[in-house]
Amino acid sequence: MNDRTTREQVVDYARRLHARGWVANHDGNVSARLGGRIVTTPTATSKAAVTLDSLLVVDETGERIAGSTRAPGELGLHLTVYARRADVRAVVHAHPPAATALACAGSRLLETPFSAEAVVSLGTSIPTVPFAPPGREACAALAPFLADHDAVLLGNHGVLAWGVDVEQAYLRVELVEQLARVALDAERVGGVKPLPDSVLPALLAARRKAGLGPEARAGATAATTATTATTTKTARVVACAPSPDANVEVIAPGRAAPAAPADIATIIREELARALRER
Ligand SMILES: [Zn+2]
Repeated sequence: MNDRTTREQVVDYARRLHARGWVANHDGNVSARLGGRIVTTPTATSKAAVTLDSLLVVDETGERIAGSTRAPGELGLHLTVYARRADVRAVVHAHPPAATALACAGSRLLETPFSAEAVVSLGTSIPTVPFAPPGREACAALAPFLADHDAVLLGNHGVLAWGVDVEQAYLRVELVEQLARVALDAERVGGVKPLPDSVLPALLAARRKAGLGPEARAGATAATTATTATTTKTARVVACAPSPDANVEVIAPGRAAPAAPADIATIIREELARALRER
C-alpha cells in the first residue's frame, strides 16, 4: 500500500468514526505506519473535519516530522502499540457508546466468549485496561495487554484496537461495539450465555488458521526468521513510559510480511460446523 492510500484511509476511517456516532467533540484518533514513521489525525479536530492536509507525521517517539497540526494527546497509546507489535500497521481509538458504557461501568461482560465469530476474530476475551491518568500511566497500563489481544476496552474511557491496516483496526472497533450492544441487550432477557467450553478449541484453531492471534503470529515470526534475514534495532519511546520489562525490538522496514490468510470466511465456516458437530 502506498503512502497516499494509507493517508486516504486514515482520513476515510476517521470520518467514519464520526458518521457512526462513535466520537464526539474532538474525541478519537486514527494512525497508521508510513514506512518507519506514523501518520496520525491531529488533536483538537472533529473527526468529521479531518482532511489529508490536516494529518501529521511523527517518528516513533512522537516527534513531529511533517505537517502543521499537533499530535493528539492520546498518540502515546498508539506509539505503545507500535513499539510492542511489529505486525501492527494501524491503530484506531474511539468512544463508541455501548462499549464505552461497559468500560465506564467496569463491566467484564466482554471477557466471556459468547459469540463464535468473535472468538475467531478477537479471541476469547476483550479485556478492560484499568483506568490510569492520561499519558505515561495510561500507556503503562495498556502495555501488558498488547501481546495477547487486538482490541481492548480502556477503563472509564473507550475502545482501542489495532490491525494490519486501518480497515482491520476500524472493523475491530466495530466488532467490539457490536458485542457490547448485544451483551447489554441480552442483560434485559437474562444475560449472555457463555459458549460451551467444548467448542472453544476448534474456534481457536480456526483463529490460528486465519493467521490471527498470538500463536499464529509466533508461527509467522518463526517462519520469517528461518527464511529471511531480518535486522532489529532498539526503539526509544519517550512519549510513553517504556515497558517495565524490556527494550522494544522493532523489525526493520523491508522485512518479509507474514503470509496472508488464505480464505478466512471458509476456514471460519468449516471450523464452526465441525465444532457444532462435536458438541
Ligand atoms: Zn479517548
